[in-house]
Amino acid sequence: MVNSKPYNLLDYDIDALADLFEANGFQRFRSQQLIKWIHQKLIDDFDQMSNIGKALISWLKINTTISPPPIKHQQISQDGTIKWLLSSAEGHYEMVYIPEKKRGTLCVSSQVGCALACKFCATGKQGFTRNLSCHEIIGQLWLANRVVQSIHGKDRSITNVVFMGMGEPLMNVGPVFKAVGLMLNDFAYGLSKYRVTISTVGVVPVMKKMLHKNGPALAVSLHAPNEQLRSNIIPLNNKFSLKLLLDTCRDYTRTTNREITFEYTMMHDKNDRLEHADELSNILKQIDCKINLIPCNPIEDGIFLPSNKKRLIQFQSRLQKNGYHVTIRKTRGDDINAACGQLAETFLKTKKSLVRIET
Ligand code: SAH
Repeated sequence: MVNSKPYNLLDYDIDALADLFEANGFQRFRSQQLIKWIHQKLIDDFDQMSNIGKALISWLKINTTISPPPIKHQQISQDGTIKWLLSSAEGHYEMVYIPEKKRGTLCVSSQVGCALACKFCATGKQGFTRNLSCHEIIGQLWLANRVVQSIHGKDRSITNVVFMGMGEPLMNVGPVFKAVGLMLNDFAYGLSKYRVTISTVGVVPVMKKMLHKNGPALAVSLHAPNEQLRSNIIPLNNKFSLKLLLDTCRDYTRTTNREITFEYTMMHDKNDRLEHADELSNILKQIDCKINLIPCNPIEDGIFLPSNKKRLIQFQSRLQKNGYHVTIRKTRGDDINAACGQLAETFLKTKKSLVRIET
């Protein structure tokens, strides 16, 4: 069926919506009001938008929709983590909500699949299908907030967003940054720029364009302390070398005065020895950063295994001794395969604690 309503309002930021209103004979400032209803109050029923005039409401009803991606499945872990599978005609994608005492983090996808084929990543194994559009990205935050508030009440909402789900966000720049703009905008979600994080494997030309102070936080998936090891596990390193990536990171931190988080997935006997920690310490000198160690989550082929606890702690201590701020990522949602690098339509493979949502 052809959708007779041409505009999905989740594709619009404040300026684009003001342009649309103006082009159709309405006042530009209505855009702010509408964005508040949609993204702050999470309302999708035009009749509830009490401060919007009747003429605009009837135009909106005829010409627009507020359509987030349909939820295909929702799984809730024993630790409160929630994972959703979202539908699209060309394939599915996933998002994960991770509750903590004082914050709630949503891990969002930017693409269906991924073209970059990192060897240890389940999404990478799946290949690339397509980029997500803005409504599919911001729609994840909109939907997750609605579900979380329906479970925990209106006071609970998502405080942090990380682009660490499926896909490479810097290969889908337009929709990703439009959605990020809404996340940071006070009329929409008003999240702190320190609490919205783009994670990239190192798309250098795009990183060079991110040199402004008020953008989202940047995380870089490093995973190896030298060119050879990195090229073995991350094919993109053959295009944008580790040296080029680190030079770009150094420029970024100096120009923006923001720090970078380096993600380092700890893989048993591949990159987790003390000499790797020393090598890593050397290459990160002069970059304002912290390091986040992620115990590798095994995927189906079983080639990359997690480092054992002793190595993880030793590696962390060595980096700390060398002067770095190092955290170890807690794995959450284990029982529902919700961890980093495991997102690849796993709903289709497991029926554990599956909750079906009517769509
Ligand atoms: N493409 C982006 C974001 C998606 S992946 C990026 O690479 O940064 C988010 C994080 O999970 C990345 O640091 C990625 O390297 C890591 N990751 C992928 N597979 C993993 C696995 N099997 N175990 C642990 N972390 C993994």
